[in-house]
Amino acid sequence: MTMPKMTIEEMIDLSLAEVRDLGNGFYKILKPDPKGVKWDKRWVKYILCFCEECGEITAKVWNNKTEISKFCNSKCNLEYSHKHTATESIIYNDIEYNIKDCPTSLKRIYHNPVEVWIENIKRSSKYKEENRDEINIKGNKRYHETKDLAAIRKRYATDEEYRTRLLTNQKKQRDNRTDEQIQNDKDWHKEYQAKPEVRKRLNELNSLRYHTNKKYDAIFMLRQRLRARLRCAFLSHNQQKSEVSTEYGIEYIQICNKLESDAKEYGYTMIEMVQLGYHIDHIIPLNSYDYTSSNDIEHSFSPENHRWLMAEENLSKGCRLRPEDIEVIKTLPKEIYPKSWKGIIPTTNEKENTHEL
Ligand SMILES: [Zn+2]
Repeated sequence: MTMPKMTIEEMIDLSLAEVRDLGNGFYKILKPDPKGVKWDKRWVKYILCFCEECGEITAKVWNNKTEISKFCNSKCNLEYSHKHTATESIIYNDIEYNIKDCPTSLKRIYHNPVEVWIENIKRSSKYKEENRDEINIKGNKRYHETKDLAAIRKRYATDEEYRTRLLTNQKKQRDNRTDEQIQNDKDWHKEYQAKPEVRKRLNELNSLRYHTNKKYDAIFMLRQRLRARLRCAFLSHNQQKSEVSTEYGIEYIQICNKLESDAKEYGYTMIEMVQLGYHIDHIIPLNSYDYTSSNDIEHSFSPENHRWLMAEENLSKGCRLRPEDIEVIKTLPKEIYPKSWKGIIPTTNEKENTHEL
């Protein structure tokens, strides 16, 4: 924290007794101290500062954190450095470097920031030139280590924003190639794809891609529905959804996996379930949860709390707890019960009573 700076007159006015001169620019004043334990006033040491820019003399309260500055405030500091900063542009490698584009961090410290800037550029390009092989190996290694292909593929299929970002980046890279690079790429791919083992693998991959895409379309659709449900749940609890769903611990992909394996038990795919008129149902109704508690929000959307239910049944059930639902809830882990239940499933009557309250 910076201590407030005052003019000397203000400082002297504060003093309850005559100001004491300590020499070397230090003075002491007697200040009222309402928080003081023993005394209601105390002596405060201050130092006089002379501003190199405007020539004004100010007084700064002195403690072990006080910085002695050549200036009375940051405005004077800035003005002084503006006056003393070299502003000429420098041409290096046919590029004009001017003060406007210079990094602020350099402008703040150096009197000739453009010169320092170019020195830095020279140094880093020299380093890159000398260590090119090492840098390439490092970059390659990092790329392959972090590249979890399965995860990327899954994200590519389910995350639309990620997909568009990836595609635009790839396009940018493609467009930036020189003619020679383009020809090289073409030749390489031609040769590569002609290999019999590559042909075989590509065919397999294509058929796999066809089948998995069908699954991801279903995931995409269900995600949209689940998101809408979450939004509605927040609204019906008069709450605002302020975080992305993963921040609440909600994983749509896990919910989709659960629903997919349930659908498999019925002998259908997820798309077929939807076409047959099944809805996604929350076994413990969402309105039993407290949507001001992040734990409850997470539990209400745990994969176990989801099931397929015929549309008519789902709509007629509403948010009641039917006896048959209670039987299902008994099979769920108690951790995902609403906090207000305290681990005990309310009977139908109790539930209705709590609703009237
Ligand atoms: Zn000043």
